[in-house]
Amino acid sequence: MSRARKRVRKETYEPVGAHSAVQLCNWTKKSLKGEGDCFKNKFYGIESHRCCQMTPSIFCNNRCIHCWRDITNAKDEIVKSPDSPDSIIEGAIKAQQKLLTGFKIDPNSEKIQLSKADQKKLEEAQQPNQFALSLTGEPTLYPKIGELIQKIREHGSTSFLVTNGLQPEVIQELIDNNQLPTRLYVSVNTSNKEAFDKFHRSLKENAWEKLNETLQLFKKITQNNKTVFRMNLVRDLNMEDKFIPEFASMIKNCQPDFIEIKGYMSVGFARERMGYDKMPTHQEMLTFIKKLEQALQSTVDVQQSTDYKLQDEHEASRAYVLCKDKNNLKIKKEDY
Ligand code: SF4
Repeated sequence: MSRARKRVRKETYEPVGAHSAVQLCNWTKKSLKGEGDCFKNKFYGIESHRCCQMTPSIFCNNRCIHCWRDITNAKDEIVKSPDSPDSIIEGAIKAQQKLLTGFKIDPNSEKIQLSKADQKKLEEAQQPNQFALSLTGEPTLYPKIGELIQKIREHGSTSFLVTNGLQPEVIQELIDNNQLPTRLYVSVNTSNKEAFDKFHRSLKENAWEKLNETLQLFKKITQNNKTVFRMNLVRDLNMEDKFIPEFASMIKNCQPDFIEIKGYMSVGFARERMGYDKMPTHQEMLTFIKKLEQALQSTVDVQQSTDYKLQDEHEASRAYVLCKDKNNLKIKKEDY
């Protein structure tokens, strides 16, 4: 078994084919047990218990300081001899079903049944209808990412693609081939090159420029409710007041449909890099968001005023979403 697949197993992922993996999201587990749903359920209406958290590329070309994942295997390479999109989707659904087996209750068994899962929900969960391409690695390093998204759409499911934005040519292709995901997330955690290099320690040449090139493509996307400017805030690292006008300027420049802001969580491998003292409180997040709203509505920097407003929040996950019209949040059939 390759070193990479051994590493994947170590991180409780289920490997799929040569370069993909699935992991049962904690919120999928909670939802099955009736302990609540994730913020994407609250904001956009996805069903957390039917969400398949996966990646078609276990490698990433960034080494972000806040990443929950093991970043020691980072490399800036397109996946070689890629598996087919069909085999990845099939394999991912099988892997999800395998990871769900522990939640089954056998009514005929005399043994004490430990699972608290709602069995009807568990039945539904066998067929995912949402694919979160955000597990680990960089999904746009999988050269057939457009076809994969197309297959998910044909499967009647939604797809959330979370990218580091360092492969603008891939996003251009998704636009040209009408293969955009339901939501296209671009991670933007810093507002200038110096901060970017410190935060992401990227293996990609001109990474900051590439990210900005990708953000500029937002304006080429004609479909509504697609683009998400995704920020992850770390206390004393990227949420100081001096960064707010820069973030506002980037947002005004690319006009995303949604701004999703998440507070840093010291979990997984991130704990080795930054402790609980770097996790912003709910109040600190709201203070930052208020200032960002004001910067976005101001015209002092000659850029036009915009009316992004905080529309919803999920305190438990320190997750917040801003957009211009609350009615655009929930996913509609035409958004698929
Ligand atoms: S959308 Fe994200 S948080 Fe919600 S269930 Fe899926 S992987 Fe988990």
